[in-house]
Amino acid sequence: MRLSARPYYTLKPFLELFRTGVPILMYHKIGPRPRGVRMKGLYVDLPSFIRQLGEFREAGFASCTPGESCADGSPGLRVVLTFDDGFASVFENAFEPLARHNFHALLFLVPNLIGKLNEWDLRDGEAPEPLMDVGQIRQWLRAGHSIGSHTLSHARVTRLSARDAREEIVASKKKLEDTFGVAVEHFCYPYGDWNDVARDLVMEAGYRTACTTLFGVNTPATPPFVLRRLAVRYPTRSLRSLKARLLGTG
Ligand SMILES: [Zn+2]
Repeated sequence: MRLSARPYYTLKPFLELFRTGVPILMYHKIGPRPRGVRMKGLYVDLPSFIRQLGEFREAGFASCTPGESCADGSPGLRVVLTFDDGFASVFENAFEPLARHNFHALLFLVPNLIGKLNEWDLRDGEAPEPLMDVGQIRQWLRAGHSIGSHTLSHARVTRLSARDAREEIVASKKKLEDTFGVAVEHFCYPYGDWNDVARDLVMEAGYRTACTTLFGVNTPATPPFVLRRLAVRYPTRSLRSLKARLLGTG
């Protein structure tokens, strides 16, 4: 199995890779997976999430946000925990385990849909899921976590005119900053959809970093507006058997 195609589930098979750079984990929804969901891999059940945090803690990882503390080459293992879209299930389920492990996380929000539903998914026939509201996001910030922008409306920015793409990228930053009174320094391309034009718009808008869905860890040589991430997935049967083989238990 090629490493480039592998979703993240447990630390051990990734530890060597994680010693070579800063991993940014990409989560979406935390908790049980409702019936009728199409994109099943976007859920991570709570016991798995808690175990994943515990593995990082035991292995000596500290959490950070993308940027200077991450890719500066200073010693110590680091991980960035990101949650795309701002699902309410993250607030309900991840908040307490993150606090218990003293891990901070970065939440990529869709400011036009705060307190609403995942409208961009519904168009594709996905099950509706509530998104965090303003009060929950304020609590998230008060706990020391960060927020970033995921465009105003969860847009595929490369399919928009430059003018509309700029609006999605620039206005989402301003809207989040105006609503929550914090600097919004990190951007995440919805669907991992980016190109040079979109990247330049993100740079011009005043962000410091941008996350993609490209696989890998980040080093000081990684372009800060094309950061790599590892998707965390609910374990499939093949992943469980892979894990069993790697651990010598299967
Ligand atoms: Zn998204």
